[in-house]
Amino acid sequence: MGRALSNNLINMGIKEAVQEVLRDMEINYNVIEDEEPDAGLGNGGLGRLAACFLDSLATLDYPGHGYGIRYEYGMFEQHIEDGYQVEYPDNWLKYRDPWEIRRSDLAVTVVFGGHVNVRRDENGRDHFSVEGGEVVTATPYDMPIIGYDTKTVNTLRLWEATSPNGFDLQLFNNMEYTKAVERQTSAENISRVLYPNDSGPSGKALRLKQQYFFTSASLQDLIRAYVAKYGKDFSHFAELHVIQLNDTHPVVAIPELMRIFLDVYSLQWDEAWDIVTKTFAYTNHTILAEALEKWPIDIFQGLLPRIYQIVEEINRRFLIELREKYPSDYQRHDSMSIISHGMIYMAWLAIHGSFSVNGVAALHTEILKTQELRNWAELYPHKFNNKTNGVTQRRWLLCANPALSDFITEKIGHGWEKDLSKLKGLEKFADDSAAQQQFLDIKRANKQKLAEYLKVTQNEFLDPDSIFDVQIKRLHEYKRQLLNILHIMYLYNKIIEDPSFDMPARTFIFGAKAASGYRRAKTIIKLINTVAERINNDRRVKGKLRVVFVENYRVSVAEKIFPASDVSEQISTAGKEASGTGNMKFMLNGALTLGTMDGANIEIVEEAGAENAFIFGLTAEAIAKIEEEHSYVPQKYLDRNPGLAKVISQLVDGTYDPTGRLFKELHDSLVYGIEGQRPDVYYVLADFDAYVEAQEKVAHAYLDSKNWAKMALLNIARAGKFSSDRTIEDYVRDIWKLKKVTF
Ligand SMILES: *Cc1c(COP(=O)(O)O)cnc(C)c1O
Repeated sequence: MGRALSNNLINMGIKEAVQEVLRDMEINYNVIEDEEPDAGLGNGGLGRLAACFLDSLATLDYPGHGYGIRYEYGMFEQHIEDGYQVEYPDNWLKYRDPWEIRRSDLAVTVVFGGHVNVRRDENGRDHFSVEGGEVVTATPYDMPIIGYDTKTVNTLRLWEATSPNGFDLQLFNNMEYTKAVERQTSAENISRVLYPNDSGPSGKALRLKQQYFFTSASLQDLIRAYVAKYGKDFSHFAELHVIQLNDTHPVVAIPELMRIFLDVYSLQWDEAWDIVTKTFAYTNHTILAEALEKWPIDIFQGLLPRIYQIVEEINRRFLIELREKYPSDYQRHDSMSIISHGMIYMAWLAIHGSFSVNGVAALHTEILKTQELRNWAELYPHKFNNKTNGVTQRRWLLCANPALSDFITEKIGHGWEKDLSKLKGLEKFADDSAAQQQFLDIKRANKQKLAEYLKVTQNEFLDPDSIFDVQIKRLHEYKRQLLNILHIMYLYNKIIEDPSFDMPARTFIFGAKAASGYRRAKTIIKLINTVAERINNDRRVKGKLRVVFVENYRVSVAEKIFPASDVSEQISTAGKEASGTGNMKFMLNGALTLGTMDGANIEIVEEAGAENAFIFGLTAEAIAKIEEEHSYVPQKYLDRNPGLAKVISQLVDGTYDPTGRLFKELHDSLVYGIEGQRPDVYYVLADFDAYVEAQEKVAHAYLDSKNWAKMALLNIARAGKFSSDRTIEDYVRDIWKLKKVTF
């Protein structure tokens, strides 16, 4: 969610009034603003998307609410020490959260473990209950989600885990202090800390416990409100609720809602399943195979014995359907079975248990339908649909970039704040020389501001007249920060070797957290910082080149960087980035996209026009073909380009690390393939030449500042599609069928 203060004041229309009052009191608003810690309750794009959706829902007067976990410790705080990422706990609740309201009156209980007890009644129906499990109290804390220029305030309800049993006084009196609080500690651990994995496996029992904890609590919350109003006739439940599953993390909600209907309210299976499958909808956020969530049966069954029985029954009935539809296609049965090879496949459960399955950009949805989820799209073609992501212009333009916002309003008036398609009106200013200069002045001032911030926070010296070329996003091999830094090493060599080589001054800015267990990602951070240290201290580059790694990248830092960016690095391996949303924030702030034909980049270029972006590299189609033919030979690219070969050998020849060992892993993964992987899994070497060429075009284009401003203005003018307001209207129309609230 990031910070709430400025956003809430702006959405309530009172920011200027508050600033004025503070000025009278000689209090600096910005100092106050910087006191608020980010609510870092998510990992990256997926969580921030949900936050943008909440803002749009409230602003558009839709009754749409969020559920999650009130982590005591959010996303870790990243420090860079000797070039390495070091993680520190994010104690964001140290001074409590002034926005949250604790609702002890709405607490519920969630049970883990135990054993399933069956009792057969006089009519022959079995009644199931769980006995002897660990009982945990879930207490909700409500965060207000305040719509912009409207009275609607929705709720983000976050659950805290505690033990209802207090501590054991007997043990305490016997001085067994640790044991005395064991039950408390075990319960509280559930909402202790966010797992910092982004698009990768977590695989830990505590993670599954978190998933069941917050979904069970949330469903009980919904059911209680429903029963209070409509009684125990659930025939209207599905008309009144859609539960949108944000990836597979909350998918255990499907069997949990079955449990509540079957075991608590004694519905028949078919009746319960009919309601459940009209209630859930599932959004897929990634096609990376390693991110498809699966749980070992023994962990799942031990933690959730009754839920496991229900999943087995869902799968038993599903397999009967499947065998009827595809008799003797055993391969298909096996690959679609929700339980197989000792594992439970959460994505399969999600698709089978939902009435809608959507991807998050056109290309992504197409890849799902034709490749990763092909069997499922054949079985349930009516379920599949696309909802291209978006971002809220209130936070990412109005709040984050007041100067550009004022410029836009001066040119086209108000209205874009709630209808981003109105930005189209800027197109006619793209050729206006005065407007171009205004834009350049605003960008320059924003760059100056970022430079001042980084001077204070990191003692970095940035030249606001250089190109700010920015890659900010989670660190992942598929996002290819490695391609970016290899190109910087290449430029550095060129500057040193060829004194006649000229280019506009460039500042390369990185911001990225790596999952704490993702060794190779952390090595890439170390490489970026090592190269930065070398280049920034080499007098020979004479202000031509600077590399900056922004520590502890998060929403509040992102809000300072996007407005100051010239170039938006969106260079993932084609076919790997589901959508991206950072790409949209850059576009909205007048940065030009340097990217591959991946995720929503494709739709961004479609809107902006190919002539207003720098597109390079293999397409998803070309890569799919290479993979089919097993025809990729990375060595070929090294033989062909001595400049590239030099950069790759510099990873191990002592240039950046005297031992030659630090970056050997990166070197070998590109050249030989290690740990059972193919060499260069993400096609860094294959795309290198095209990337260099695209970067040359960027440098050349930047020299013509008026034309650069024109391209940027056209990007802004054509960013309307990428408002999360548009995305929400798409969900409302096709999936949720929501009506606006009226006052
Ligand atoms: C938008 C955003 C992201 C997502 O960035 P991508 O480039 O789409 O991966 C991640 N983290 C933060 C803090 C963001 O604001």
